[in-house]
Amino acid sequence: MRSIWENVSKEKYQTLEKNIETDVLIVGGGLSGILTAYYLNNSNLKVTLVEMKEIGSGSSGYTTGKINIMQGNTYYDLLNNFGFNKTLKYLNSQLYGLNLIRENIKINNINCDFEKTDSYVFTNNHNNINKIKKLKEFFDKTNYKTEIVKKLPSNYSSIYGIKGDGYVFHPLKYLYNIANNCKATIYENTTVKNFIKEDGNYIVYTENYKIKTKYLVFASNYPFFITPGLMPFKLSTYKSYALSTKCNNMHFDAISIDEPVKSIRFWENNLILGGYSHKTAIKLNYKKDYIKLKKDLHDNFKLKSEYSWSTTDIKTNDFLPYIGSLHDNMYIITGFNKWGMINSTLAGKIISDLIKGKDNDYASLFSLHRALSKEKIKSFVTDSYLITKRYISGKIKRNMDFYNKSEIVKINGINYGVYTDEEGKKHYVKNNCPHMGCTLIFNNNDLTWDCPCHASKFDIDGNLLKGPSKDDIKKESN
Ligand SMILES: Cc1cc2nc3c(=O)[nH]c(=O)nc-3n(C[C@H](O)[C@H](O)[C@H](O)COP(=O)(O)OP(=O)(O)OC[C@H]3O[C@@H](n4cnc5c(N)ncnc54)[C@H](O)[C@@H]3O)c2cc1C
Repeated sequence: MRSIWENVSKEKYQTLEKNIETDVLIVGGGLSGILTAYYLNNSNLKVTLVEMKEIGSGSSGYTTGKINIMQGNTYYDLLNNFGFNKTLKYLNSQLYGLNLIRENIKINNINCDFEKTDSYVFTNNHNNINKIKKLKEFFDKTNYKTEIVKKLPSNYSSIYGIKGDGYVFHPLKYLYNIANNCKATIYENTTVKNFIKEDGNYIVYTENYKIKTKYLVFASNYPFFITPGLMPFKLSTYKSYALSTKCNNMHFDAISIDEPVKSIRFWENNLILGGYSHKTAIKLNYKKDYIKLKKDLHDNFKLKSEYSWSTTDIKTNDFLPYIGSLHDNMYIITGFNKWGMINSTLAGKIISDLIKGKDNDYASLFSLHRALSKEKIKSFVTDSYLITKRYISGKIKRNMDFYNKSEIVKINGINYGVYTDEEGKKHYVKNNCPHMGCTLIFNNNDLTWDCPCHASKFDIDGNLLKGPSKDDIKKESN
């Protein structure tokens, strides 16, 4: 599983090899963490960032990289949930975030293939035409200019849509260049395992060392801890798939508002087709979604994929990200609802302003302490039910297609996942996620053990590939 963005070189950063003290510790080297570090450059605070793998190796390296203002269903959902004024504030936050990206690219002279495109939100479903009309009505009351279109500028099937201005870039070129312009000390291959509060500071534990810090920022995509904040019960993890292949650049991007969602963008002479996203908790056989996406690529463009990848993103139950203070000097950035390009830069600005004690017009919109809405409570209950269902019942049907080349066996009363490799060697791992104990399922596309509850990912020998788990799973082999 490789994303198209991974072919640019990056600087290597040291691994933490001693106890240290800092003023601000940022956990996670995706766009959110790196941008937070960047905006603290002029703060006189000592800033440290730790990343469990390499910077950009999380969702930020597997995105489709559309710097999108219209964002699919987002404004429709926000209007239903909050009404016009708050939805307008969200739109303004995105336009502000877009300007921050533009400014960062200009000031730092970054070459990250940033370009303006025609951006479309479209449907293939007659029942969704009214949704598009509602979006148009909303944008007509704002400064963001849009027009109605009947089809996309390609053979991709569509019956109705709306067009506005959008932007695209190479997400890792942006991230690596911003990292080069950060004054923060960055450590890679350093995993935060735990933290405690002691005498007004946080003591943060990595595998072998301690970091003492006044401010603690979790930019780890999905927070690994349960308290404070009970965040796992306020968030849902969604898995999405992407393919890319050589194709003439058509200089537009598009996303559908239908289920399953379809997404199109071009980068240089490559087409990136994405979609089929679903809650991780409700689907077990990921290979089928790649097959559908490949069929889409063939049916609409007569092309075969060169790269394919999948990753997870986090949704909140009221369609607004969580960016703000969780507890004394502790901050969290999560829940971009699949729109993390603008929101990560915006989050970096907001969190750095909060740490510096500066006002930020958008801090209250994304506050973690905002009131619960009806929609939020409803989704919360449904999601908790799905997670708990997987969590408690053991849950997974032993479907042969799904467990291709893998099986679950009981040894001394303990369930093990067993994968048999090409040479016939069996790889055993305990079949529970170290994060919250959910039963792991075998991802027969990526050849990984995946957690359906919160999307942690492990290789066939149980080595951690992606959090929120911060630990490997117990491994044994024969
Ligand atoms: C297929 C797909 C397509 C998308 N397309 C778009 C798009 O076109 N436009 C858009 O706006 N958004 C898009 N998104 C969403 C966007 O990619 C994400 O919201 C964004 O990249 C999240 O950035 P992040 O920095 O918050 O998280 P990440 O990039 O995941 O960074 C978090 C980092 O924290 C590290 N970490 C985790 N736990 C620990 C720990 N315990 N200790 C140390 N480090 C830790 C991880 O290794 C990771 O590197 C897409 C998402 C998906 C899944």
